[in-house]
Amino acid sequence: MKITHVRSHVLQYDLPEELGYSQQYYSKRTAHLVEVETDEGITGWGECFGPGNVALANRTIVEKVIAPLVSGHDPLERDVLWHKTYNLLRDHAQKGMPLQALSGVDIALWDIVGKVAGMPLYKLLGGAHRSRIPVYGYGMMLKRESVDEHIARFKDEAAGIIAQGFRATKMKVGLGVKEDVRLCEAVARGVGDKGDFMVDANHCYTTSDAFYVGRALEELGAYWFEEPVAPEDLDGYRELRSGLGVNISGGEAEFNRWGWRSLLESRGLDIAQPEVCALGGISEYLRVLALAHAHFTPVNNHVWGSAIAVAANIHLLASMPALPGGLTPWKPMLEFDTTHNSFRDELLTEPLNIQVQVKANDGYVGVPEGNGLGVEPDRDFLKRFRVND
Ligand code: CA
Repeated sequence: MKITHVRSHVLQYDLPEELGYSQQYYSKRTAHLVEVETDEGITGWGECFGPGNVALANRTIVEKVIAPLVSGHDPLERDVLWHKTYNLLRDHAQKGMPLQALSGVDIALWDIVGKVAGMPLYKLLGGAHRSRIPVYGYGMMLKRESVDEHIARFKDEAAGIIAQGFRATKMKVGLGVKEDVRLCEAVARGVGDKGDFMVDANHCYTTSDAFYVGRALEELGAYWFEEPVAPEDLDGYRELRSGLGVNISGGEAEFNRWGWRSLLESRGLDIAQPEVCALGGISEYLRVLALAHAHFTPVNNHVWGSAIAVAANIHLLASMPALPGGLTPWKPMLEFDTTHNSFRDELLTEPLNIQVQVKANDGYVGVPEGNGLGVEPDRDFLKRFRVND
């Protein structure tokens, strides 16, 4: 079997309303899918993390840099191809966009392997440690409105997400530390005793500001405090983790086993959040997972993007061993963006229907049973939203 084509599909549409997090506002939804074709008629799908123009740049890396390295080779030799590609790219980037590009190709190769083996990905990875996954809904994005408007909206939105059946909810912060604490208080009130809430700072704080917000989160009983400081600030992470009672989480902006080794050895994370569509794909995710567990750090995958990324993550969460074990072990949750996303809800010929499953099954989703990722994009849908022709 040989790889014949590696193709990027960058999809984009205008969101019905602008959304924001601590770094910027955005008005377009983008997804970057990778399709790998073979000479035996089997096609694999993957996805690269990266919004907007980053997706267009990653598309060039996929099609101009990685495709020539893997074309003509056996797609089943995914680990050989991973190392061949990474070793040749090493001089140009050990982190960042080339790894995001490689991730999409690697995920597509795993999809092909599953289809050839006649097995869903979770089974190929060793089986399901859990047959259903609890889901948390994130929302509560920033908008160009007053602090008081944010506070009222966040409280209602938090209550609404929990009422839809999600097991927990996650909010953004970034209006300023005092304002952010008021937002967190509003979300705690909105959630009440019906679930957990988490807070995502998208690395907008200094360490001292993060301590100020983190102390409030201890009082409010937040489950985790995500990316409080810059991803490069390993000392800040370590100080926050040793000084605060709330769980410190992060890692979505870290890449490959070597980046993760430094992050884990610095002991700054209570919960690791690797992004499979960025850190190097499934091949590298498995190594990072082993490394995290070797440091006794539980893993809760970062999930962003289209239904391809969501499906890949459901398989990975199903096949993740419990750490530590026990009758009621710590459970990873599926991260689910509750804001408008057609690439997640309408991309597939058979949709995952996450929201419907969550509502019907007390906040849980099942695992796709088809071979590989177990999902297929609708070709007409791809044509409608493609922006890279
Ligand atoms: Ca995040």
